[in-house]
Amino acid sequence: MQALENKILAEGRICKGGVLKVGTFLNQQLDVKFLFEIGEHIASLYKDSGVTRVLTIEASGIAIAVPAAYYLGVNVSFVKKSRSSNMSDDCYSSKGHSFTHGDDYNAVISKEFILPGDRVLIVDDFLAEGNAVNAMVDIVKQAGATVVGCAIAIEKAFQGGGDKLRAQGYRVESLALIECMTDDGITFGTR
Ligand code: 5GP
Repeated sequence: MQALENKILAEGRICKGGVLKVGTFLNQQLDVKFLFEIGEHIASLYKDSGVTRVLTIEASGIAIAVPAAYYLGVNVSFVKKSRSSNMSDDCYSSKGHSFTHGDDYNAVISKEFILPGDRVLIVDDFLAEGNAVNAMVDIVKQAGATVVGCAIAIEKAFQGGGDKLRAQGYRVESLALIECMTDDGITFGTR
């Protein structure tokens, strides 16, 4: 998506350890109009896939998942990174590892929010090593539902998570795919 690549080049900040900051529109401030353009683009890619539910992980994935689900005409379920007191005891869970925080978490969602037979589109803001998406794939499988694909705003392909998922046969669509990111700049690619 050319508009997203342009926005990354104009507003993104490359930080230590292969982290890209896009706080101006996605991670700390939400550019709502732009996020709805992203959502519309995702919906156009998966409009014929029979999606019944969008699944994401807190927090920033929700910002992409909501507009994508709006245009697909379905609801969003989101996985939490820790169990909270208002959740039922009957949960699916999967171990995750946070690339940005460097620690492990327990991805968890109440069983009532993914149903057997659901056709699930997994959505997230970033795809790096693939831990967050893998945890969601695991949860969808536990629920007896089907992953129809993944839609990612920004894939950092040099970290390999996206290609591992593709090698397993999952459809992974990334609106901006970064092949290389150095102090000298960003190189985008396609899959
Ligand atoms: P993965 O689990 O694929 O290694 O990393 C994806 C998750 O880590 C996303 O949910 C996202 O929140 C976070 N993440 C990974 N890389 C970056 C990055 O470069 N910038 C930001 N803002 N978040 C990232």
